[in-house]
Amino acid sequence: MTIDQEFIGSLPRLPKLIVFDLDYTIWPQWIDYTYGPPYTYIESKNALINSYKERLELYPDFTAIVALIHSFPDTKMAVASRTSTPDWAKLALETFVIPEMDNMPLYDAFSYLEIFPARKLEHFAAISEASGIDCKDMLFFDDESRNREVTRLGVHFVLLSQRDGITWPTFKKGLKEFAKKS
Ligand SMILES: [Mg+2]
Repeated sequence: MTIDQEFIGSLPRLPKLIVFDLDYTIWPQWIDYTYGPPYTYIESKNALINSYKERLELYPDFTAIVALIHSFPDTKMAVASRTSTPDWAKLALETFVIPEMDNMPLYDAFSYLEIFPARKLEHFAAISEASGIDCKDMLFFDDESRNREVTRLGVHFVLLSQRDGITWPTFKKGLKEFAKKS
């Protein structure tokens, strides 16, 4: 499954900002529970591996979803993560590529990154301040229900399963739910 242009065209509005958590949202790992870098990049798999043979890979639908978001003229992307190892997370984002976008580093796809251990209310306050975008214009994907508290700020929250992370069906559901709210 992907999403066709007809579906996108049928939506009355798109988010100005789409925000992703990292652990169990874009990759199936708590990065701060690993031994971390140095990483070796495995180009054929778009995967990272460390000297303890721990592998970090993206959920399979994610890079194509990023490429689709980049085709939306007025939508940016951000990261909101509470990992306690922000440097490892940033290094991983710099190393992964988006094959659908001429192997652009994944890091470059995000306009705003807020990565620090705190409640996500703080991440969204920082993102809103940096971007000037109202939280009501944001769509957020995350696997932990405690982070639903950001709905208090007006963010539209979509809970993901840790097994699957971000997928086409949940991404589509998020766009649809967001469009219905106004
Ligand atoms: Mg998570």
